[in-house]
Amino acid sequence: MATVLMSTKQLGYIRVLASKGGFNFDELLMGVASMVQASALIEQLKARTAQIAAPAATPELVAEGIYRRSSDASMFRVQTAQDSGRRYAKTLLAAGGWDYERGAIYTLAASERLTLAQIQAWGLDTGVCAVCSRLLSTADSVAAGIGPVCARRYS
Ligand SMILES: [Zn+2]
Repeated sequence: MATVLMSTKQLGYIRVLASKGGFNFDELLMGVASMVQASALIEQLKARTAQIAAPAATPELVAEGIYRRSSDASMFRVQTAQDSGRRYAKTLLAAGGWDYERGAIYTLAASERLTLAQIQAWGLDTGVCAVCSRLLSTADSVAAGIGPVCARRYS
C-alpha cells in the first residue's frame, strides 16, 4: 500500500500551530512525511498549544452592589478601587460603617446581590440603610427602608 503524503493543508496547519506555540517548524517536520504522521503531529501540537493558550484560572468577581451572603446572612458592599480598578468587598459592621475583608469578594455569588426592594426590606427590618450603613433617621427613610440619596443611586 502506498503511503499517502501529507497534504499542503496539513503543512499549512502545522506551520500555524508551530508559530502559535513558538515551536520550530523545521524541527517539528523531521521524520514527518505521511498524512498519518502529519495528523498525529497536528493532534500533538493542538494539545500543546491549548495548554499554552489556557489562561490561569481567575475567579469571576461579582459586580458592584450590596450583597447578603446566604451562608451567614452577613452584609457586604462590593466596590471598585479608584486607583487600581480592583473590585473588593467590605463587610457591614454592627456599629455602622464598612470594613474591608480580604478575600470576602470570592465568597459572594452573583445571585446574592440585593435588589433595591431587598435592600428596602432589610432596612425596614433593621432600621439601617444597607447602601451607606447609616441609621435611617427621617420618618420617610424609616418607612422606605433606605435613605433617599441611596435609593436614587442604587440600581
Ligand atoms: Zn444610605
